[in-house]
Amino acid sequence: MVVKLWSADLAGIQAQPVTVEVDISNGLSSFNIVGMPDTAIKESRDRIRAAIKNSGFEFPGRRVTVNLAPADLKKESSRVDIPIALGIIASSSKKLFSPETLKNKMFVGELSLDGSVRPVTGILSISINAAANGLTFFVPEPNYCEAKAVESGNVIPYRSLNQLIRILKEIEPPHIPHCPEPEVLENYPVTLEEIKGQAHAKRALILAAAGNHNLLMYGPPGAGKSMMAKALPSILPSMSNREEIETTMIHSAGGILKEQSIIRVRPYRAPHHTISHIGLIGGGTRLNPGEVSYAHNGVLFLDEFPEFPRRTLEVLRQPMEDGRVRISRASGTVEFPSRFMLVAAMNPCPCGYFGSRVRECRCTPTRISNYRSRISGPILDRIDLLINVPQIPMEQMVAGNTGLTSREARQLVEQARQIQFRRTRCPNAWISETQLKGVCKMEADAETLLLTASRKMSLSSRSFNRVLKVARTIADLEQADKIRAPHIAEALQYKVSDFFESGITYD
Ligand SMILES: [Zn+2]
Repeated sequence: MVVKLWSADLAGIQAQPVTVEVDISNGLSSFNIVGMPDTAIKESRDRIRAAIKNSGFEFPGRRVTVNLAPADLKKESSRVDIPIALGIIASSSKKLFSPETLKNKMFVGELSLDGSVRPVTGILSISINAAANGLTFFVPEPNYCEAKAVESGNVIPYRSLNQLIRILKEIEPPHIPHCPEPEVLENYPVTLEEIKGQAHAKRALILAAAGNHNLLMYGPPGAGKSMMAKALPSILPSMSNREEIETTMIHSAGGILKEQSIIRVRPYRAPHHTISHIGLIGGGTRLNPGEVSYAHNGVLFLDEFPEFPRRTLEVLRQPMEDGRVRISRASGTVEFPSRFMLVAAMNPCPCGYFGSRVRECRCTPTRISNYRSRISGPILDRIDLLINVPQIPMEQMVAGNTGLTSREARQLVEQARQIQFRRTRCPNAWISETQLKGVCKMEADAETLLLTASRKMSLSSRSFNRVLKVARTIADLEQADKIRAPHIAEALQYKVSDFFESGITYD
């Protein structure tokens, strides 16, 4: 007789139900698993065989066949250890417990050789799926709080194969761990209040947050560029429930979810420039998400921007364009969401002091322009704002902080985003070219100013459009219906082309 159980695996971040069928028949002693990559089968067989024995059960000395379906899913072997072991025990000894006990239940868990269970990744998605299908979900105890975080479905934790069987036979009640209330604390790495001076850069940060504009900061080392980037999550609008779940699912799929069961603060990811292609984009043997997906709904900060290998930066184009990243492998293609705000930072020149009043720059113009040209045009095309973050004089540091707090700034940002959402259902940075004209209505003098400036500065049409989008965000922050001349004037100050096209004559 064939025993059938439900388990699940992940395709990208989405859970896919998997059926585990176990058949034990007379014949030479063998143990085969069908529907799993060859490399995983051996390890999986060894773990399951040892765990069954070490849990005090007998491993059947007959022909054991396990079938995992659908066969084309790239199943990660370790998640289905527990259902395979349960199936083998249930079909080898009907006296032990009836296969009926396994109905309407879903099991995941990785076995240790001694029969205890290890937590697995991707629990949040699987839990949502189990609840949607009306299945009671049995999870390794350390995964319990994550499984309970969103769905009110029936979730039962267990610690070992042995305990799981006692729970199923109702000999022992499950031990329900205490799940801490989801933290709603505003736990930000840095707030605006902590940054002294830098009024101009802070203003640009608020603009970036209000329109979700990608931005590039330049300035000498130690001027506080990474502090600025770290402060961004504190002024970005709070996440919607959907965004929280999406972000948590990605972190859960990659196995990097920390103690908290649901992520409530927008993620801030700052990979080093030595990061691998796979680390940034995702992939690898386990098809993990990359930094672009961990930063989904949050900030991806790339410090020392020109130090990133060109090839690494080039691969950012697709996720930035589509808001998702597709990873193709022999087994198929998975997709991860990747809608992040790109924040890049760089020195103005190789030595870092070009334009500084503190120290003299010793770079030749050729070295400076080579350094800047490491960033390719197509990436720059996706950056709306350029900010200079200068080293601030001592007096300003001592004078302390004036200007908006993070909380005040976030209120403005949220208001501006609501206006944008009512208008186009998306932040200004994502307005399409076809929408641009209808959305960015200008007063007559604003239009004159933009056209004159565009002629004088010979703005490309891309630059022109970016100035327009940024001006729209400035107007939204003031809740102005039409873009006015001062909005255009301010937007022109953040033009990215200043830094890259007009050579090295600024400041
Ligand atoms: Zn220099």
